[in-house]
Amino acid sequence: MIPEIKYHFASDNCSGICPEAWQAMEKANVGYHPSYGADAITAEACETFRQFFETDCEVFFVFNGTAANSLSLATLCQSYHSVICSDVAHIETDECGAPEFFSNGSKLLTAKSSLGKLDPLDVERLITHRRDLHYPRPKALSITQSTELGTVYRPGEIAGLCSLAKQHGLHVHMDGARFFNALAGGTASPADITWRAGVDVLCCGGTKLGMAVTEAVVFFNHDLARDFEYRCKQAGQLCSKMRFISAQWLRILTDNVWQTHASRANGLARQLADGLGKLAGVQILYPVDANAVFARLPDPMKAQLKARGWQFYSFIGGGSRLVCSWATTEADVQSFIADAS
Ligand SMILES: *Cc1c(COP(=O)(O)O)cnc(C)c1O
Repeated sequence: MIPEIKYHFASDNCSGICPEAWQAMEKANVGYHPSYGADAITAEACETFRQFFETDCEVFFVFNGTAANSLSLATLCQSYHSVICSDVAHIETDECGAPEFFSNGSKLLTAKSSLGKLDPLDVERLITHRRDLHYPRPKALSITQSTELGTVYRPGEIAGLCSLAKQHGLHVHMDGARFFNALAGGTASPADITWRAGVDVLCCGGTKLGMAVTEAVVFFNHDLARDFEYRCKQAGQLCSKMRFISAQWLRILTDNVWQTHASRANGLARQLADGLGKLAGVQILYPVDANAVFARLPDPMKAQLKARGWQFYSFIGGGSRLVCSWATTEADVQSFIADAS
C-alpha cells in the first residue's frame, strides 16, 4: 500500500490558512471598498501595527517574503552598495538573486555564522577590510529573526549588531519571515527586538504564521520609507483588493492571535525535538528557540520515515529540518516520533 504523503513538518508554509485569518477575509468580503489600500480596514491595520510596535512606523503589505526583502533592501542601497548577511541567509541561498535584481546589482557579502547567527567579528571585517572604490561599499546589514536554523537572536545580540552597523553608516534590515516565532520564543517586546535595538526596516512574516499571501514591510525610519509604495507598485506587489490582506493583519495582531499560533508551533517543535532526541543515533543540531527542529537522523531512520510518507528537507543546515506551524497537533508530533522509532 502506498502511504499517505505527509507534509506536516516539511515547512510552515505547507499548512493552510489559520481560521482567524480566513474568517477575517470572509468578514471583509462585504460590499464595496476603495482599492489599493485606500480603505478603512487597511488604515486600521496600519494603526494596529503602530500600537504593536509602540512607535509611528510606516507599513506596507506585499505578497511574499522574497519581495519584502528585495524591495526593502533595494531601498536601503544604491546599485554600487553591498548588503552583509549570514552565509545561510535566505536572501543569499533561496531568493534566486532577487535582492540583487531589484537593487540593480547591490552585491550580497556573506559573513560567517554560528548556529545561524551572524558572527559580529566577521561582519566588522567585511565592513572595514576595504575602503577603496573598487569594492562595493557595505550599506546594509541583514539579520534574520528567527534564523534560518531555528535559533533566536537575543535583544542584546541584535543591539550589538545594529550598533556595529550604525557605527559604520550601515542601515539594518531584519528578515522576519518567522518574526512572530522569534517573539513568542523570548520575553522581549516587539519594539525591543526591532527599532529600540536599531533595526530600520522589518520584513514581518505573515504566511508562515498562518496567513494567506502576505508579508508586511515595516519601516521604523521614515526617510527610508519614502516612495516605497512606488517601488511596490512597479514590482507588481501592490494588491488592488488590499482589504483582504489588511483584514488578516488586523485580526492576527488583535487578541494576541499571533502569539497563540506562534507559541503553539514553538512548543510543539520543542516536543518534537525532545522526543526525537531520545531515539538512538539522533542528534539535535541547534537549540530549538522557535518552531524548527534540525536533527541528524540515522540513514535507516530517514528511509523509514520517508517510506511511511513523511516529507522533509535534508539540504538545509546540514541535517533534516522539521518545522511546526499553527496547524501542527500533538498527535502529529507523536505520530512522527512513533514512525521514527
Ligand atoms: C520563507 C522565508 C522567506 C520568504 O520566502 P517567500 O517564499 O518569498 O515568501 C524569507 N526569509 C526566510 C528566512 C524564510 O524562511
